[in-house]
Amino acid sequence: MLTRTDLRGRVPSTVELRATLPRAEMDVEHVLHRVRPLIEEIRDRGVPAVLEFTEKFDGVRPERVRVGAAELRRALDELDPAVRAALEESISRARKVHADQRRTDTTTQVVPGGTVTERWVPVARVGLYAPGGLAVYPSSVVMNVVPAQAAGVESLVVCSPPQAEFGGLPHPTILAAAQLLGVEEVWAVGGAQAVALLAYGGEDTDGAELAPVDMVTGPGNVYVTAAKRHLRSLIGIDSEAGPTEIAVLADGTADPVHVAADLISQAEHDPLAASVLVTSSPELADAVDAELERQVARTKHVERIRTSLTGEQSGCILVSTVEDGVRVVNAYAAEHLEIQTADAEAVAAKIRNAGAIFVGPYAPVSLGDYCAGSNHVLPTGGCARHSSGLSVQSFLRGIHVISYDEQALRDVADKVVALADAEDLPAHGQAITARF
Ligand code: NAD
Repeated sequence: MLTRTDLRGRVPSTVELRATLPRAEMDVEHVLHRVRPLIEEIRDRGVPAVLEFTEKFDGVRPERVRVGAAELRRALDELDPAVRAALEESISRARKVHADQRRTDTTTQVVPGGTVTERWVPVARVGLYAPGGLAVYPSSVVMNVVPAQAAGVESLVVCSPPQAEFGGLPHPTILAAAQLLGVEEVWAVGGAQAVALLAYGGEDTDGAELAPVDMVTGPGNVYVTAAKRHLRSLIGIDSEAGPTEIAVLADGTADPVHVAADLISQAEHDPLAASVLVTSSPELADAVDAELERQVARTKHVERIRTSLTGEQSGCILVSTVEDGVRVVNAYAAEHLEIQTADAEAVAAKIRNAGAIFVGPYAPVSLGDYCAGSNHVLPTGGCARHSSGLSVQSFLRGIHVISYDEQALRDVADKVVALADAEDLPAHGQAITARF
């Protein structure tokens, strides 16, 4: 089922490797010209414009944008107890991991009387987007809210598209997840409209203020991504999330049943999702292919999965050795990378580029999607070469606090003046000498 590329006996250059490992791309530029006027309308006209676009794209017109406290409580009261227990487990594990990520302020004594402190300050108000088009993702509410709360963000608002079948409210599982996490502010708005309203703020139909946010995070479709790209100087954003990716680096010791199941699990997200097997074992490649045929036929979303697995963004790369496979996966920089080889820990230690690494037979990506404790908002499209996934750090800014006394400034004054003169900025130097 997977298109095979044979790299055995060759060591391709990084350029060739990147070309050999094509990936699906979201054509954000293509929709930007449609999203831009929508954003301007919302900036100029606020909620009335939002409701017009919502009616057009979501087929429903909510009475108010802000979801009431009683509706949030009811959603949690009516949540399936098994789902509630699972969400609670997911939240408590994620909280454990994210609590440990919080940085402490550091003060460096540069010279006697001269210190620089790096103070970590949370963003004040954050909007978290929870998709609600083709599927609902309460897990994404958890993965966005937990690090923001652990960072100390004071004001959080969750946005999710209103659903006609739920009377213009977001999906009840999204509302229940927000309530469980202690988020009191939820808005029924989706797509690019949500990002624009979060960025500019507005006035609800009953006159209540919808205050603008400083930052928007969370995954979404191409319209959400285009709006984030367009508004990214007005608001901070997390990375642009493209279609999901899994790469599995495996040798002959891997179980083809597990490998196939894991490749399928990510293909289930999206017809554009990428599932890539990199293996030093042709026998494993054959066995995984056979397993894929067998398992795909028995899954619920057969069409979507088949399209994803047979698309040019998915495939199987044959390499001579696991060492060569490490080079391939480092060049690819997958959002999710599984290591299913002998001595998986040692192989994982050689990985430089991946959004998250899942080590050994009992750490599949699905665990990380929901209940590992790690974050599932991860860099896609090769961005793992330079970026990390969502974390507490994403919601903090490091502010340098500079404190020098008179003697400490006097001691370095001639150096500052020399550098100011070298840059032909003498007024910089005079700002020092004026003090002495
Ligand atoms: P979504 O909430 O992102 O988008 C739905 C909204 O799109 C609707 O509210 C509607 O207003 C708007 N829209 C629909 N058609 C439009 C049009 N023609 N013009 C303008 N706006 C339009 O939900 P979705 O569509 O299901 O997409 C969710 C995406 O998020 C998927 O690609 C999924 O794979 C991704 N996702 C990623 C992660 C991750 O962690 N990387 C997690 C969950 C979901």
